[in-house]
Amino acid sequence: MNKELLEMYEKLGINAKTAEFGEEIAAGLKERFAKIDEVAEYNQMKVLMALQKNQVSEACLHGTTGYGYNDLGREKLEAVYADIFHTEDALVRPQITCGTHALALALMSNLRPGQELMSPVGKPYDTLEEVIGIRPSKGSLAEYGITYAQADLLPDGGFDWDGIRAKINERTHLVTIQRSKGYQTRHTLSVAEIGELISFIKGIKPDVICMVDNCYGEFVETIEPTDVGADMVVGSLIKNPGGGLAPIGGYIAGKKECVENAAYRLTSPGLGKEVGASLGILGTFFQGLFLSPTVTASALKTAIFAANIYEKLGFSVLPDSTESRHDIIQAITFGKPEAVEGFCRGIQAAAPVDSYVTPIPWDMPGYDAPVIMAAGNFVSGSSIELSADGPIKPPYAVYFQGGLTWPHGKLGILKSLQSLVDIGVVLW
Ligand SMILES: *Cc1c(COP(=O)(O)O)cnc(C)c1O
Repeated sequence: MNKELLEMYEKLGINAKTAEFGEEIAAGLKERFAKIDEVAEYNQMKVLMALQKNQVSEACLHGTTGYGYNDLGREKLEAVYADIFHTEDALVRPQITCGTHALALALMSNLRPGQELMSPVGKPYDTLEEVIGIRPSKGSLAEYGITYAQADLLPDGGFDWDGIRAKINERTHLVTIQRSKGYQTRHTLSVAEIGELISFIKGIKPDVICMVDNCYGEFVETIEPTDVGADMVVGSLIKNPGGGLAPIGGYIAGKKECVENAAYRLTSPGLGKEVGASLGILGTFFQGLFLSPTVTASALKTAIFAANIYEKLGFSVLPDSTESRHDIIQAITFGKPEAVEGFCRGIQAAAPVDSYVTPIPWDMPGYDAPVIMAAGNFVSGSSIELSADGPIKPPYAVYFQGGLTWPHGKLGILKSLQSLVDIGVVLW
């Protein structure tokens, strides 16, 4: 490694052995990184073309107040999202507070009492359990008389075609497909796999609405679930599509009727998309979207780098060092609590904000063990920024994601490694 760089790493507390090891691993990833850059190049043009086609102008970057009637920027932004996802319409709003809210909105507005929701990919993301009513909660779908059915994946991770067919009935109205594994141990679905699944389901019941939870998946591939038959994709702007700049927000892109239902639920029947002032936030939404392809590429490179570093050192990593990637999450199993804490201390120490604080495990609502979280973010809770968390219980794994730039993601992983060297978990 060049001397200048080594000195900088040294100043940041990373010793020569750790930095050289990182360099060796990174050198072996050149070809894979080139492929990621190619996807980013494609997606950069896709986003740019959507911005240009809709004639986004300087005036679009300024917001409205009050009711927000005739908010030109908001309307163009939604048209841009619709073009990127190749859908009829989109709802992209700061009033959608997070990913869970966007998903709840899409579900509650497109299902009616007596209908059934079905997941063909097993249990959905934790926070959706209360939305659906798998865990009883005020205002859940279950309280409104909307039932839920689920077909689990097969032990090898494949779709259970017969099981799925058996769960589709005359009441099945909406099928929810989670692209990312989230914090489960199954694999993340590729867009092609999602396409196969949707064709199968539509073959059984053509008019069923297929919705994809697209969180962490945007711009990882050159196509999106709506390119392979999904009626609706849903996600969070403090993950991939906000590019690290959006300070809040969620999106729903899809069929006109699905989006209209969601808009009527978000604001009010009769008002729909016509209201909802964007205040001063649209510049960050547009610019974040513009940066998103390369930011997502940085987060992907960081995840692959981490997998290769820690697999080489003998830890079990998911996805593994060579697997193809369909989201930006990386799990690393350490097998001991002090390693989980050490890893998170290293990530925190690399942060641009709050780098001086020490993360410690804490009891959190909804978790059955203390959880340690590392995040020194510009946007609170943003997981497109370098971040990690791990429940302090066997098998003592950390889940790691984000990295707005590759140099920073790389530094974060090297800091985590140095932290493990410093406490003797990794020896050299
Ligand atoms: C993050 C995430 C959500 C919900 O996100 P919040 O923004 O934290 O509410 C839902 N599904 C998946 C797969 C996610 O990764």
